[in-house]
Amino acid sequence: MMEPKYKRVILKISGEALAGEKHTGLDDEMLRHTALDVKQLADMGVQVAVVVGGGNFWRGRTSGSMDRATADYMGMLATCINALALQDAFEQAGLPTRVQTAIEMKEIAEPYIRRKAVHELEQGCVVIFAAGIGSPYFSTDTTAALRAAEMDADVILLAKKVDAVYDSDPEKNPNAKRYTKLTHQQVLEDNLQVMDSTAASLCRDNKITIHVFGLAEQNAIYRAVTGEAIGTIIE
Ligand code: UDP
Repeated sequence: MMEPKYKRVILKISGEALAGEKHTGLDDEMLRHTALDVKQLADMGVQVAVVVGGGNFWRGRTSGSMDRATADYMGMLATCINALALQDAFEQAGLPTRVQTAIEMKEIAEPYIRRKAVHELEQGCVVIFAAGIGSPYFSTDTTAALRAAEMDADVILLAKKVDAVYDSDPEKNPNAKRYTKLTHQQVLEDNLQVMDSTAASLCRDNKITIHVFGLAEQNAIYRAVTGEAIGTIIE
């Protein structure tokens, strides 16, 4: 087994990545495959915290005429559905897993407590952070940046539907330029669609490395953690 490059990681999984080819809802195979990938990391001694999105069910900013804050709270609830699905898949793979939510729902998950999360990671549990940061007008990418800073993580592993950062959508533009390395500043200045500017500037200001890759690629998470140059590295 290869040596891991990182000791503690924040794995950001977008909701869409969990939907697989269906684009919406949850795909059993993607859940199973993600759990096995995370198990591989845990078996290498890597501490894994997951931030999960909710775009496979709902996104506040595309909700039309609805009050934005209400729509965003709905989006945060969507991330909780994904968190419980991931917890189930992780536990089926033999991984002890805790879900911590930024909006209290203590009958089904723990509230977010930074010190408790760090303790659980040190005990070998996977910790899933759900409900974003608990405030509307933010995204789960910003949540990943914030939790990475709070947990003192070595990297954000940004598992996406696309396999890297491009200068335009590779599904629409066959000539889209693919990047292997970028700086945070380039992401911000060129307005690259990798994460929103709030998340990118939080990463820049706190010197958080971001490794972007496609979740559907074979062994993608393991390959990223063992230092293989898949996808795009932003630092
Ligand atoms: N959201 C929010 N505050 C947060 C995180 C998420 O309001 O701190 C809402 C927002 O409406 C967002 C939705 O939750 O559109 C789902 O999150 P996101 O779009 O980041 O999910 P992803 O695109 O990663 O699946």
